[in-house]
Amino acid sequence: MDYLPLFLKLKGRPALVVGAGEVAARKARRLLEGGLSLSVVAPAISPSMQDAARAGDCAIKQRPFTPADLSGMALVVAATDDPAVNRRIAEQCAALDIPVNVVDEPDRGNVIFPSLIERAPIRIAISTDGVSPLLSRLLKSHLAGCIPAAYATLAGLAARYRPKVKARFAEPRERRRFWDKVLRGRVADQVFAGRLPQAEAELQALLNAGNGAANTGEIYLVGSGPGDPDLLTIKALRLMQQADVVLYDRLVSDSILKLLRDDVEKIYAGKERARHAMPQERINALLVRFAQEGRKVLRLKGGDPFVFGRGGEEIETLMERNIPFQVVPGITAALGCASYAGIPLTHRDHAQACIFVTGHLKDGSVRLDWEMLARPSQTLVFYMGLVGLETICAELVRHGLPPQTPAALVMRGTLPDQRVLLGDLSSLAALTSDCEVSPPTLLMVGEVVRLHDKLQWYGVDRNVEAGV
Ligand code: SAH
Repeated sequence: MDYLPLFLKLKGRPALVVGAGEVAARKARRLLEGGLSLSVVAPAISPSMQDAARAGDCAIKQRPFTPADLSGMALVVAATDDPAVNRRIAEQCAALDIPVNVVDEPDRGNVIFPSLIERAPIRIAISTDGVSPLLSRLLKSHLAGCIPAAYATLAGLAARYRPKVKARFAEPRERRRFWDKVLRGRVADQVFAGRLPQAEAELQALLNAGNGAANTGEIYLVGSGPGDPDLLTIKALRLMQQADVVLYDRLVSDSILKLLRDDVEKIYAGKERARHAMPQERINALLVRFAQEGRKVLRLKGGDPFVFGRGGEEIETLMERNIPFQVVPGITAALGCASYAGIPLTHRDHAQACIFVTGHLKDGSVRLDWEMLARPSQTLVFYMGLVGLETICAELVRHGLPPQTPAALVMRGTLPDQRVLLGDLSSLAALTSDCEVSPPTLLMVGEVVRLHDKLQWYGVDRNVEAGV
């Protein structure tokens, strides 16, 4: 990180803007909003600067800049239209250890102004480390659309009730639980609907009732998709951000875990083939315990929870105990890998059916209905098929599929380092011994695999390792 993001209180401190054109005026406005005591030095003063100066404590000095102007400044903005002058100011500031922003050449200084989304007292600052202010602005308009203006009202309400809530709940965790109920429940709904008095009445009622009885936990059984965080559903993302505690599997990618709140408790529940970091019974017991403590528990799984994900087993326990839960589907590996490898699962010319099958049975064997699997005109997708790869290919051939039937191993599908290993039923197993296989891997078998050559689009510059 080149720039440390922080909000600094500089109210009343002296700041200097050198230059008085349009850009300088924009910076002056921002500094005056922050309550700084501003001086502007420039030989010519634009009308926008004259206008900006009226917004706060601002002294305009219509004359050329001199190094003496820097004396005692807490912050300087070099915003003249002469890059050489701006650079000189930046050097002088550096020598005096004064933070300085240089317009158009942020690298010359050490301060950048982020794009701001204002929902006072909420402020969201966006920076690209000075690389692309335009991108910051685009992101700003994108994000601003998702953040209703009523958040400002909600924050105002929270500010007014903060002392009362603090007095009512001594424990930080209790306070958080209370605010959680306020900010995600009916109080917030009323604010967003523009009914502030009702919102306030609800809040007061909640405060009187305390956290006690109404406080029930809930489990969110959420599919996180095959790895690319952009493939999360909106609901998955919302629940991820609401959870107090998360139990996640090995398949949940790092970039998805980064989307969790910083303060959330994260518990690794493992799930590696033949080496479960945590037995299923223990996972079930933990889910029940956390929910009974009134916590919102995110059970985060790779792909879809109901596709080779044991989601069914987990909610069975919750149902027995009457624990509320929601299930959120995710994009299963077969769909993610098919799309990102350019291998359609069905195709009018090649495959009229598609079968998802596990290559790894509960007892470790690969006993499957080979007659059914070896039929023509269908696509087979084997989950957990790497260990049994040789057996799978051999059995399919033994039961009638031509040895030249194309087959692909999609490794780390949808992730930035996705790779696709192409072969056929007679060659694929041998090919895996010649290259490093990075899990997780999905085996796809059928004529549609041939389409990869034509349809591959993701990471095309580093993809194919062998030809069919
Ligand atoms: N519930 C998950 C599957 C869990 S079983 C889902 O719906 O996707 C674990 C198997 O899924 C792995 O052995 C592998 O075969 C497959 N898998 C999961 N993510 C994958 C990925 N990103 N790339 C390739 N295979 C993946």
